[in-house]
Amino acid sequence: MSGDFLTVTDLHAGYGDARVLHGVDLAVGRGEICAILGPNGAGKTTLLRALSGMVRVRGGVRLDGTALAGRPPDALARLGVAHVPEGRGTFTPLTVEENLRLGAFTRRDRDGIEADLERVCAYFPVLRARLGQVAGSLSGGEQQMLAIGRALMLRPRLLLLDEPSLGLAPLVTAELFRIVRTVNEQERTTVVVVEQNAHLALDVAHRAHVLESGRIVLSGSAARLRADEQVARSYLGYR
Ligand code: ATP
Repeated sequence: MSGDFLTVTDLHAGYGDARVLHGVDLAVGRGEICAILGPNGAGKTTLLRALSGMVRVRGGVRLDGTALAGRPPDALARLGVAHVPEGRGTFTPLTVEENLRLGAFTRRDRDGIEADLERVCAYFPVLRARLGQVAGSLSGGEQQMLAIGRALMLRPRLLLLDEPSLGLAPLVTAELFRIVRTVNEQERTTVVVVEQNAHLALDVAHRAHVLESGRIVLSGSAARLRADEQVARSYLGYR
């Protein structure tokens, strides 16, 4: 981990008059997996939307020194920000391969795209076996893998994952998180993951932040947060 790759300073965001984020400050190191924990309605999804340009923001967001705040989603995608939204957002009538190729929409390097298709299929062998199948016919876990695979086709510098475990069986989720960790280790992709399952999130993450009512109330290494009494009581279900 070297220095801060993503820095968020006094970030405010919301929907119309509804203010949701009230001055979020956080930093994520290059190559780190950072988990965002917090109760329902805390603003976790809104934070990811703010980072990928899907909601209007006030405040500072910098990725490797480049100011991101205020740029539209396609510009942020070109800067390497890939967002896998809650509910996955795969194009269900399109095939797995078509979905994956759409993930490379910002790119013109044909050979690189073919190589990355191969790379994604190596991470997710289940997708290779279903390249010609329409996405709508996949299981929930396979669709989540497709959504992450599609995001990887962007060659992201920052991968945002919103509730990847939602609705999935524990074994499928464990496999998914194992793959996310492998991608992070092999490609040094920086990851911000919002996750209700705090056990899982703290297992996979290096660092974590707790968001409550639109503000970060606790930050630290995953090990430190796991040992924190308040986190244990509120999010890990013991003590
Ligand atoms: P959850 O875990 O329940 O998804 P969250 O921490 O991700 O919660 P958000 O989804 O960011 O929280 O929601 C924060 C607040 O913003 C909530 O009060 C929610 O009702 C509101 N909100 C979310 N999306 C919209 C929207 N499109 N329009 C208006 N308000 C919204």
